[in-house]
Amino acid sequence: MTHEYDVLIVGGGLVGASLACALGARGVRVAVVEAVLLRSDQQPSYDERTLALAQGSRRIFAAMGLWEELRPGVTPIHTIHTSDRGRFGFTRLHREEEGVEALGYVAPARVLGAVLGPRLEALEAVDLICPARLRHFQVDDQGVNVTLDLEDETRVLRGRLLVAADGSQSRVREALDIDTLQWTYGQTALIANISARLPHRNIAYERFTDTGPLALLPMSEGRCSLVWTLRDEQVDEILHLSDADFLARLQERFGQRLGRLERVGSRHAYPLSLVRARESVRPRVALIGNALHTLHPIAGQGFNLGLRDVAVLAELLVDAQAAGQDIGELALLQRYADWRGTDHRRVIAFTDGLVRLFSSPLSSVACLRDAGMLALDLLPPAKRLFGRLTMGRAGRLPRLARGLPL
Ligand SMILES: Cc1cc2nc3c(=O)[nH]c(=O)nc-3n(C[C@H](O)[C@H](O)[C@H](O)COP(=O)(O)OP(=O)(O)OC[C@H]3O[C@@H](n4cnc5c(N)ncnc54)[C@H](O)[C@@H]3O)c2cc1C
Repeated sequence: MTHEYDVLIVGGGLVGASLACALGARGVRVAVVEAVLLRSDQQPSYDERTLALAQGSRRIFAAMGLWEELRPGVTPIHTIHTSDRGRFGFTRLHREEEGVEALGYVAPARVLGAVLGPRLEALEAVDLICPARLRHFQVDDQGVNVTLDLEDETRVLRGRLLVAADGSQSRVREALDIDTLQWTYGQTALIANISARLPHRNIAYERFTDTGPLALLPMSEGRCSLVWTLRDEQVDEILHLSDADFLARLQERFGQRLGRLERVGSRHAYPLSLVRARESVRPRVALIGNALHTLHPIAGQGFNLGLRDVAVLAELLVDAQAAGQDIGELALLQRYADWRGTDHRRVIAFTDGLVRLFSSPLSSVACLRDAGMLALDLLPPAKRLFGRLTMGRAGRLPRLARGLPL
């Protein structure tokens, strides 16, 4: 028996689940195929990491009617403080200068999962098929057939459009033989929750050190979320230090802005790379989120970029469906690809450029960094552009990103 839908989404992680919530609320019939139970400790998308959400992402979630549920679990960022360890350059960005309630919000991925999961289950138009894995798919003129492996059966779904939201190692992308541009940074992000003696005062600290950037983001209960980028060869040692030695090493890197660093929670490591698919659409297939672009977390942009993919794709699909058009048609999907292209290029160049600039040990580059940070601090237009980029406000915005209903 074949089950019929409008849109088949492979991957119910942060991005795939967000798209399903947006479409399902407008009555688009969606199947979400997810390999790992959303409430499982092993869920790779809703794991221990915390995400800096841009203002643009808050607007998208608000327009989807999810922000009020998310709000109690997120912490607003009032100030971003960026500095270079051992050098004089630093820059600060304040919410007052940008005229916003917060520059962004820090959201544990598990909090997002705890809101997106139940919403998916509550939407009548959405079927969550989980745990289930994509086995293969076949595209024809009218639609796409997807064959799944469930625990004790094989199931075939039919839809008019297949959306690949299956992360960096996307099976859908691979099956279509879509080429990628990719490189590893030789760096690994180590994450953990930290408690410090002084209150964080809702300041997000980004500190560039000679081994890579280190971020401490404000969290609930006075804690900070650490994202510490290390060279691959350092990770094992630092991951296995005693808590006291770990905190001492971190203190030496971060300095005294939060007073003594007193406690550290469990530590997790993520090897970092850039993966960018060279095509974002094929007939009846669209790629979104990490399946399309996986970024270094240096500027906290990956999920924000993926959520903007969601906002654009959802708008085009809902409008096309309302106009009686075929939502799998390549011309429509190409509009999605064209609309998203500039934002992708800009954010990838910005993120990758930051990694390279701040990972260079050359003193001439360090001077340039200092000058750059001071210029950013002193020149309002440069600072505003930086603010708009990091808050997700640059470029042409879809309805959801303007806070309007889909
Ligand atoms: C250390 C770190 C810090 C970060 N910080 C930030 C930040 O501050 N701000 C920010 O915006 N972004 C941040 N990111 C990036 C963010 O985590 C990603 O952009 C986001 O997780 C992408 O979500 P996704 O749903 O596209 O992919 P994923 O999270 O990879 O989810 C993919 C889903 O697809 C499922 N799946 C895979 N294959 C199959 C299959 N064959 N069949 C069925 N299901 C399948 C998986 O189980 C998973 O649930 C950070 C990343 C890291 C590593």
